[in-house]
Amino acid sequence: MTNPLLQTWDTPYGLPPFDQISDDDFAPAVDAALTEARSNIAAITANTEAPTFANTIEALDLSDRLLDQALGAFYALAGADANPAREALSRDFAPLLSAFSSEVSSNKDLFARIETLWQDRENLDLTDEQQRVLLLTRRNFVRSGAQLEGYAADRLTEVKGRLSVLGNQFRQNLLADERAWFMPLGDSDLAGLPDFVIAAARAAGKDHDVDGPVVTLSRSLIVPFLQFCPNRALRQKAYEAWAARGANGGETDNRDIAAETLDLRAQRADLLGYDSFADYKLETEMAGTPDAVRDLLMKVWEPAKAAADADGMRLQAMMHNDGETGPLEPWDWRYYSEKRRKDDHDLDEAALKPYLQLNRMVEAAFSCANRLFGLEFSPIEVPLYHPDCKAWEVKRDGEHIAVFIADYFARSSKRSGAWCSAMRNQQKLAGDIRPHVVNVCNFAKPPEGEPALLSYDDARTLFHEFGHALHQMLSDVTYQLISGTSVARDFVELPSQLFEHWLGVPEVLEEFATHAETGEPMPRDLLDRMLGAATYDMGFQTVEYLASALVDLAFHEGDAPTDPMQKQAEVLEEIEMPHAIGMRHATPHFAHVFAGDGYSCGYYSYMWSEVMDADAFEAFEEAGGAFDADMAAKLEKHILSAGGTQEASDAYLAFRGKMPDVGPLLKGRGL
Ligand SMILES: [Zn+2]
Repeated sequence: MTNPLLQTWDTPYGLPPFDQISDDDFAPAVDAALTEARSNIAAITANTEAPTFANTIEALDLSDRLLDQALGAFYALAGADANPAREALSRDFAPLLSAFSSEVSSNKDLFARIETLWQDRENLDLTDEQQRVLLLTRRNFVRSGAQLEGYAADRLTEVKGRLSVLGNQFRQNLLADERAWFMPLGDSDLAGLPDFVIAAARAAGKDHDVDGPVVTLSRSLIVPFLQFCPNRALRQKAYEAWAARGANGGETDNRDIAAETLDLRAQRADLLGYDSFADYKLETEMAGTPDAVRDLLMKVWEPAKAAADADGMRLQAMMHNDGETGPLEPWDWRYYSEKRRKDDHDLDEAALKPYLQLNRMVEAAFSCANRLFGLEFSPIEVPLYHPDCKAWEVKRDGEHIAVFIADYFARSSKRSGAWCSAMRNQQKLAGDIRPHVVNVCNFAKPPEGEPALLSYDDARTLFHEFGHALHQMLSDVTYQLISGTSVARDFVELPSQLFEHWLGVPEVLEEFATHAETGEPMPRDLLDRMLGAATYDMGFQTVEYLASALVDLAFHEGDAPTDPMQKQAEVLEEIEMPHAIGMRHATPHFAHVFAGDGYSCGYYSYMWSEVMDADAFEAFEEAGGAFDADMAAKLEKHILSAGGTQEASDAYLAFRGKMPDVGPLLKGRGL
């Protein structure tokens, strides 16, 4: 039997042949692909000709194409449709891949060739893009320890290997805790819950093989439950289970993993000659230094905390009026905040929901992409990895641009949150390769035959992930290293957060927010109230986010904390965290920071990008409106198509003509 993962895919659009791939194929495919990549790299260093950009940098960019192909398919499955076999594979692959990447970055012969090119870069007649790729390739090697020798080099390899195992374990523990807990609801527990919450709870029951509705720890179910459930004891039980994810003791407890991870990161930074992991991590970011990050976060913290404190007083008074006693607790905030939203804005989530149909919101996102960038989307029938997935071909002026795949519904085999990934990245070095982009969300699945309905928050998430997808789909570079979203971490949320603004454009909602049963557009006054309420409870939302960002930053500055939970408590005390607000992500379930390296010391990035997205959308408004063609063209040219061809600040300057300040962000958040 030939392994389908190792073939050239003669499938529609070159998509992975999911209907032919079985879980047993992955391990031998990764094995074979690693062998091939190793021999490609050996061929680069064995080349007796002097190093050139083509025989070294380009050859390196192409060396692991087969591995990319196999892993692109695997990680799509492992993240969105896990099973015990895939989880075991994921655990097995982590150290293998980490060892391979350490082996490449510590390859002295390879680095010597790169260094020769770097020293001679002025004389190589390179294009701007090639110069950038050379700079980044060399920088990646240096930051991975290519200049280390002896013990330090060996120790760094060990540290990185262990970190990748820990990151994977953290993610799997979290998924196990989220899967294990659910709370059956009796008939009397349903009182006060809107129909859409009850329907989602019934669907979740089915997913857990339970006869009847249940609350799970999926954000799209537990958050509305906490908003609407009048029974304080039930709210407390659900909230406490949610907050305890990753800290339940036993085999899936993540607290020791967090401590060991922070310690190893500090060692890694030390081996590479940095004062702290924060200094190491931020060196390549737009922010540059820990001080710049803290400065931004604290500028926003003060007004956000003031707003949250004032809101908390009001919510507590409402609760006391209900006959409850004691302080407002974290399981009370959303419930009273929802009541207050009804009072203040005469708006309740349940009345909005029929107008926010998933299918219509997808059409809205497509329509905006069409008006801004001329993209057209047509549904295609291709083998995908789960029956809930849908795919579209994306074209412009008849030309193929990308395949877009959406996987929107929550299920117990999917990790929590929402994300965008590319199973294949855009590049031109290996031919005109167009991307395969996947958006994954965790929206509540409706009962058979009923339309899926979203909250306004869900719809924002949909637009957010679609913004990342545009960044991948419109990518137009030669080298995979700088393709699509391969940009500084604190720049990568700019396209996604910027795209959220188009959901808030009234003419978009007027067209696409239509009632699921009557087909009527959302009444203008409901629409105005919904948009007016968009900055509602921003004190709370900003505080829960910033607390997580500040803890993340503190974890990675100076010496690693021996007890991260203690350190977390200290940071929260220092910033005077309001009692009734929990961190958006507390340490034992802070997957951004601990399930891999991606957002470690990088959770601040969302706010850093928000400074830019608020300013960037203002640029559209100043120029003539949300669909201004010149601004859209500039956005595509300098940001969406450009990948990592230049430094983030240069890309922003080219788009906007000036750097942003924090003003539009505070205005946008109503602070
Ligand atoms: Zn994002």
